[in-house]
Amino acid sequence: MTNPHAVPSDAPASAALLDRARAVTPGGVNSPVRAFRSVGGTPRFMTSARGPHLTDVDGNEYVDLVGSWGPMILGHAHPAVLDAVHTAAARGTSFGTPSENEVLLAEEIVARVDPVERVRLVSSGTEATMSAIRLARGFTGRSLVVKFAGHYHGHVDSLLVAAGSGVATLALPDSAGVPADMASETLVLPYNDVAALEAVFAERGDQVACVITEAAAGNMGAVPPAPGFTEALRRVTAEHGALLVSDEVMTGFRCSRAGWWGFEGVDAAPDLMTFGKVMGGGFPAAAFGGRADVMALLAPDGPVYQAGTLSGNPVATAAGLATLQHCDDALYGRLDEVSRTLATAADDALTAARVPHRVQHVSSMFSVFFRDGEVTDYDAARDQDTAAFGRFFHAMLDAGVYLPPSAFECWFVSGAHDDAALDRVVSALPAAARAAA
Ligand code: PLP
Repeated sequence: MTNPHAVPSDAPASAALLDRARAVTPGGVNSPVRAFRSVGGTPRFMTSARGPHLTDVDGNEYVDLVGSWGPMILGHAHPAVLDAVHTAAARGTSFGTPSENEVLLAEEIVARVDPVERVRLVSSGTEATMSAIRLARGFTGRSLVVKFAGHYHGHVDSLLVAAGSGVATLALPDSAGVPADMASETLVLPYNDVAALEAVFAERGDQVACVITEAAAGNMGAVPPAPGFTEALRRVTAEHGALLVSDEVMTGFRCSRAGWWGFEGVDAAPDLMTFGKVMGGGFPAAAFGGRADVMALLAPDGPVYQAGTLSGNPVATAAGLATLQHCDDALYGRLDEVSRTLATAADDALTAARVPHRVQHVSSMFSVFFRDGEVTDYDAARDQDTAAFGRFFHAMLDAGVYLPPSAFECWFVSGAHDDAALDRVVSALPAAARAAA
């Protein structure tokens, strides 16, 4: 499938830019999954985006079902976000001092997500999880971290073991460059397997600083926690004095006003949580937060160091605030409706074309696995027909629909996906399903 040099007739300008990019940037991209490696073909270089649409440098318009991998929950170039950004930028783009927007954004997060008593802003989800892990180690005085196979928490050294997202797309076992002794501090368990969790804690529970989990997995496709799994994580970590870190970088403020925490409705508050994507409104903003007594260990008050030149950037926080102000129940209702429409149409088209598949949801995030049967863990997620997905992906792309270029990623919808955009996707599905067959 890998054919990064193919030049589709409708994308010569993208192909030319890819050639130039490859001469100066590894793979021609600044994040690996953008390179189309698992689906083949030429990645499209986008030049503008508005509402539910992306437009590439050749002038092709696509209905966007990637949403910049999650942040664009209101659609592209939402007027309220643009206004907030213009106003903030006109006042200065970075102060390197505290500013009011940081307080407002922190207050908004604390007000929405009960377990978050204190929050610190950073610039990427990777920074958020890296900092949460350091804090958990500082708080407990222990070093082991437990994670689940197929969960992706950014490109933090110790969390790049059996990771999902681009690592899964490229079929890498782990990343080179992570020292073996660092990787050995990470214990990887099968997701949704309470017995495996209990067994590891029975043996090494007193050395575990934290369990980090995607609140609901989205980086191997949509795989929600099995009933009782989140409660088991809470119970086992508490019994052994380890912290529970719930990574809501993807699900936060997308699954509900309070993210997966608000959607799942279990009474199992994590100690720490991480956020990103939606809370930055398309700008680099992310956060970690949680129990006040744990967060109190952070510098300047405590001994756990963490910092950032652009943390709490005034333009990013303005975009994030404007976005969250529109993340209300009406929006979540619409996202649900849009995702059900698309998921049902994809299911119907693939069924009619007799393509083995399984559609799964994490609230309004959903994904299509090109295999039969329920997917509850990484082994099942990897056991799919990625070549069929590649054919499906390209047929959709040719019909003007931009899907995630990987079988291991969720499809993201936005409040800007109107009926015209949905019709375009729905009408493209039958032929794409036949191409996949
Ligand atoms: N955690 C989760 C659950 C993610 O989905 C991601 C990114 O996709 C990250 C962490 C890393 O965030 P970033 O790419 O902003 O570093």
